[in-house]
Amino acid sequence: MAVRPLVILPDSKLRLVSEPVGPITDEVRALAADMLETMYDAPGIGLAAIQIGVPKRLVVVDLGKTAEDRNPMVLVDPEVTWASEDKRVHEEGCLSIPEYYEEVERPEKVRVRYRDLKGDTVETDADGLLAICLQHEIDHLNGVLFVDHLSRLKRTRLLKKFEKAAKRESADA
Ligand code: ZN
Repeated sequence: MAVRPLVILPDSKLRLVSEPVGPITDEVRALAADMLETMYDAPGIGLAAIQIGVPKRLVVVDLGKTAEDRNPMVLVDPEVTWASEDKRVHEEGCLSIPEYYEEVERPEKVRVRYRDLKGDTVETDADGLLAICLQHEIDHLNGVLFVDHLSRLKRTRLLKKFEKAAKRESADA
């Protein structure tokens, strides 16, 4: 297992639509292990494979606040199969958009179908923080970022800020 470097805005990889995982091989299991380690190291509560530069439809989630509370979920090829009409506003952040938090409105409850690492198909109903986290991560698989749910003004301002920061960094290097 290894902590992998995170892909940060404005990297265009974040806009890729990820490919289905296909058969669950040792390589897929190793990728999931690296993703969990990278997420815990950050720390964060969710990570999509594209955030470490791998365009595969693989997501890891763990809402545990401490090492003792850990309860990792690995979702292979997850999809939202139902979303409630009721919406909820919650402040979100993203490991690929460091130190930026903003309120986003999303369906309050969702049903998600995925395969686990044994290859079994699982369908689960989620609400609360899990529902938000799963929608956020599944968005990543489709090249969508949480800031895409904000107003154009906020998004443009944020993008400019990150583009400037990236330029500064490449000038320093
Ligand atoms: Zn994210």
